[in-house]
Amino acid sequence: RQDEVGLMARALQVFKDTMQRSEELEASAQAVKAKSEFLANVSHEVRTPLNAIMGLTRLTLKHPLSEDQRSRVEKVERAGQHLLETINDLLDFSKIDAGKLRIEHTPFCPQQLLSEVTLLVEQRAREKHLTLVQAPQPELPQLIGDPLRVSQILINFLNNAIKFSNSGNIYVFLRLDTPSNAESYLYGEVGDQGIGIEPEQLERLFLPFEQVDASTTRQYGGTGLGLSISRQLAELMGGEIGASSQPGKGSTFWFRVRVGINTSEPATPGDVIL
Ligand code: ADP
Repeated sequence: RQDEVGLMARALQVFKDTMQRSEELEASAQAVKAKSEFLANVSHEVRTPLNAIMGLTRLTLKHPLSEDQRSRVEKVERAGQHLLETINDLLDFSKIDAGKLRIEHTPFCPQQLLSEVTLLVEQRAREKHLTLVQAPQPELPQLIGDPLRVSQILINFLNNAIKFSNSGNIYVFLRLDTPSNAESYLYGEVGDQGIGIEPEQLERLFLPFEQVDASTTRQYGGTGLGLSISRQLAELMGGEIGASSQPGKGSTFWFRVRVGINTSEPATPGDVIL
């Protein structure tokens, strides 16, 4: 009889503990939801006026300006662009955090995507006297996937390669990996001859807000969100992401995402609007 009472008491205690734990979990889930909703609202509020500022700045640059005026307006444009990229990262981060980011499945031409992405970062590379090289690969078919999210990963890799290199080439390529008839992956790689990363830092870079060290942060700026967003995007697209590096020699970043092969369309370039 005493055994039974003891057993009941223990069961009651386990039940109480479980209830308490589940209440705690629910409270923390609510806090996460509130936090990401707040971030999404703030990002939205900042993005709307910033888009107006950027639009008007670009319009101003189309008009005849003195050299001095042009250089000042270009500075405003660069600062605005940086702010917009930071806000977009925060918005994406909060969307992923809240499980609200949806992956598209639309037809796209990977060749066209690569050309547009390189065009977008070319100016930044040229300013640092870096050469952007598209490593030759077999021609790719039309694919089905999320071209904007694939571009986002590539742009993140390329911007980092430019940011953390002082000389040399930056190469980029895309290729199709088909491990079986049932699955195909789009594989992308960006390599640089920049400052490189210590082996023990490599894995941590894909965690949110991680940067190699505080002095790097001060020297190079950035939020430390880009690679963690890229990793989550690759995973949401049924793939993975990775990097290898030799400190002082350079780094290679790669991703692999699941795609469909669009057999109904000929392999002609379609527009990818970034
Ligand atoms: P951010 O560039 O905004 O700091 P990321 O998540 O894109 O954020 O990158 C995180 C960190 O990874 C960078 O701060 C940098 O320390 C390191 N890193 C990323 N790419 C490279 C690269 N190509 N070469 C050297 N370090 C890199």
